Amino acid sequence: MSCGKVDPKCPNCRLSKNRTKVVPGTGPCDAKIVFIGEAPGKDEDLKGQPFVGRAGKILDDALESAGVSRNRVRITNLVKCRPPKNRRPRKDETITCTSLYLDRELQEIAPEVVCALGQTVAKHFVGTRESMSKMVGKESQIIIAGRPTKFIIAYHPAACLYQRKNLSGFRASIRTALVAADMA
Ligand code: SF4
Repeated sequence: MSCGKVDPKCPNCRLSKNRTKVVPGTGPCDAKIVFIGEAPGKDEDLKGQPFVGRAGKILDDALESAGVSRNRVRITNLVKCRPPKNRRPRKDETITCTSLYLDRELQEIAPEVVCALGQTVAKHFVGTRESMSKMVGKESQIIIAGRPTKFIIAYHPAACLYQRKNLSGFRASIRTALVAADMA
């Protein structure tokens, strides 16, 4: 079973200009939970895999501390190519890429829970203007493949690299998402 395929030569937005590799999602196609980050970073761009740098280690540690190994969850990004200088993906890039890839990836997997890592991802799905501290850990619903799907917002793990005070909140929100998926 395959899911979330991305054209390795995709030319469909300006992020194609500077990338080294496209970065498709990884993890089972029947995963109960999908974690979605904003965009690949430097390490991910070089390896063609999501969350393999320092932020990925923080996510792995949070999963492990909840007793869940990374290979049981799906990990992916809103956009599949690294934005220059790690800037936020622009709205047109996000709309183009999600309509080509992420929307289909989610429909193919049809998870029970989607966990948004960071504000950009949260806004893409639920358009909230609230601060992250008010949104983190709250459960709402989005529609995927025609059915209501639990939606939980966590900090982006990169936020914990520079503000260690976010680490306990990050881990708690990851655990909340895993509990919602009946995995922790
Ligand atoms: S970000 Fe998405 S739409 Fe843009 S070039 Fe990469 S794969 Fe294609």
